[in-house]
Amino acid sequence: MNLLPDFRFHRPETLEAAVQIKAATPDARFVAGGTDLLVNLRRGLGEPSDLIDLTAVADLAAIRRDGDALWLGAGVTLADLARHPDVVAGYPAVAEAALAVAGPTHRAAATLGGNLCQDTRCVFYNQSDWWRDGNGWCLKYKGDKCHVVVKSDRCYATYHGDVAPTLMVLDAEAVVAGPDRVRRVKIADLYRESGAEHLTLAAGEMLAAVVLPPPGGRRAAYAKARVRDSVDFPLAGVAVSLKRDGDVIADLRIAITGTNSAPLLIDTADLIGRSWDDSAAGDLALALRRKANVLRTTITGAKYRRRVMQAMARQLVGTLWDKG
Ligand SMILES: Cc1cc2nc3c(=O)[nH]c(=O)nc-3n(C[C@H](O)[C@H](O)[C@H](O)COP(=O)(O)OP(=O)(O)OC[C@H]3O[C@@H](n4cnc5c(N)ncnc54)[C@H](O)[C@@H]3O)c2cc1C
Repeated sequence: MNLLPDFRFHRPETLEAAVQIKAATPDARFVAGGTDLLVNLRRGLGEPSDLIDLTAVADLAAIRRDGDALWLGAGVTLADLARHPDVVAGYPAVAEAALAVAGPTHRAAATLGGNLCQDTRCVFYNQSDWWRDGNGWCLKYKGDKCHVVVKSDRCYATYHGDVAPTLMVLDAEAVVAGPDRVRRVKIADLYRESGAEHLTLAAGEMLAAVVLPPPGGRRAAYAKARVRDSVDFPLAGVAVSLKRDGDVIADLRIAITGTNSAPLLIDTADLIGRSWDDSAAGDLALALRRKANVLRTTITGAKYRRRVMQAMARQLVGTLWDKG
């Protein structure tokens, strides 16, 4: 590990001040729990001129009712998110996804905003400086070649966040604050399929909150495959929300993580109005295969990750279907 690079440190107490500093200092980075950013900086992945610590912004740490929706501040820790009574009672899949992140000591510091905005990962990127130097760097940082897809002009580093897919299948929105306005976007629209620039936040913008609409009779669940159950990123993760109407699927949403440069929603339109049976499960497997682009970005093989993702999706839909 390297020493941290020199930087100026800011600790604003309001959202407005945080955004103003960011807008005036394009090279600055936000830091919340630091469990993703600081590890990367110690590996030489970035040399920001300024760090803007968000932990003193009280507004960011609130979970509160917002009409019939639930407002989750971006600075809420994953530990607090997972044990909040309104989350546990109304959105247990969100608590489940938060509890699937890393280990307990990470979750005590790690925030919802940091989880959603965490960097993409790749076996050619999350390495020490000397390792990457010896391998000619890579397209994501300092280099001009993607080692995963060699002839590509874009980076294929993968998004491995656990919480985004569950928020996506629950139709949550992100509240994005910029120097001039606050806007709302679907969680899926926070991302683009580019390993080096996977967030759609503009230069001066930050994530202020996530708003969960009422569950509306949907049941949801999240599952992930990982090397070490105690603390590890998803090799593949799947979130499902299902609404069953008698013998047919009234609504089905599926989102995946750990496979592409962004968490992605799967097209399930063909499954609506059908019963959950082997034929539907086969069509779901096809839809997943069409969307997931699992590549050699982790030390675990792509074929295994693709197949485990399909198996988890099938199992989750089956479990939610059986619950009625
Ligand atoms: C050993 C280990 C295991 C891990 N396992 C997992 C895992 O299983 N699943 C998983 O999802 N993650 C995992 N992580 C990554 C990380 O711990 C989590 O994603 C965590 O939730 C990040 O939150 P944070 O507050 O610490 O983010 P930080 O490190 O503070 O920030 C992460 C990024 O988000 C940006 N950011 C933070 N807050 C905001 C905001 N409000 N608006 C805009 N940008 C913002 C920062 O600038 C930075 O680029 C792991 C990390 C380690 C070291």
